Amino acid sequence: MLIGILSLQGDFYLHEKAFDELDVSSIEVKTIHDFDKISALVIPGGESTVILKYIIEERLEGKVIDFYKKGNPIWGTCAGAILIAKTVSNPIQHSLGLIDITVERNAYGRQVDSFITEAVTVLPGGKMEIVCIRAPKIQRVGKGVTVLAKSGEEVFLVRQGTILASTFHPELTDDRRVQRYFLSMIKK
Ligand code: GLN
Repeated sequence: MLIGILSLQGDFYLHEKAFDELDVSSIEVKTIHDFDKISALVIPGGESTVILKYIIEERLEGKVIDFYKKGNPIWGTCAGAILIAKTVSNPIQHSLGLIDITVERNAYGRQVDSFITEAVTVLPGGKMEIVCIRAPKIQRVGKGVTVLAKSGEEVFLVRQGTILASTFHPELTDDRRVQRYFLSMIKK
């Protein structure tokens, strides 16, 4: 089992490190050819406008959508969640539309307004530390979408079918539950 980490911009190396800790191999995905080898894809945090620009330049959009249509899991964190959302606001931005959520970019303010909080989660093991860096906010959750972690009304982790989206950065803490959960989504 090989995990692909979209490595165009952002903190992709921290996702590699997190999977390493679980003894799961990953490769950096940069071109359409890398998709042949992988069974799941992570789209990391970073700057969604920049990642989107490279996705278009590298003609990866159709490839990611095909990969999804074949039933392979995709997990977007932060900027990655923005890129896979159905609708993006603040400002309106093109996205791949793989999960029925609306996200507002930079919804909590600027870099200095980044924060750490705690969320309740349906994943076993109790509360989860949530690290948000210039994070988007999930404003709307579609009918087919399951909420996996939230704090009050704030939703941080959602799933729809083979798509997982987190507005926070699980790769920045020692908690590997989200990685483990994502691995459990890969068909055997
Ligand atoms: N603010 C970034 C964006 O809108 C996302 C930040 C992140 O990925 N940590 O693209």
